Amino acid sequence: MKDYSRKITLYCPLCGNDQFESLDVAHEDAVDAPDTVRFKCSDCKSVYTKAELIESNNESIEDNIEEVQKELLKDFEKKLKKIFK
Ligand SMILES: [Zn+2]
Repeated sequence: MKDYSRKITLYCPLCGNDQFESLDVAHEDAVDAPDTVRFKCSDCKSVYTKAELIESNNESIEDNIEEVQKELLKDFEKKLKKIFK
């Protein structure tokens, strides 16, 4: 089974930095943490909740989803071609 998951980088809406300090949970738990946990930009020190960061990065996340869907479709087509050979 191919792994379609990708790491999504979140950017600070203010300065574009992608390094954040997790304020409420351990950094490795941040992905599964609720939307209310806070992150501090390591550069400009702005504090955002996870929900705010995801919201402001929404466009790039949607791009990412689209890419994954395209890949899935390509794989599916390949499989179909093999079947009908
Ligand atoms: Zn920043």
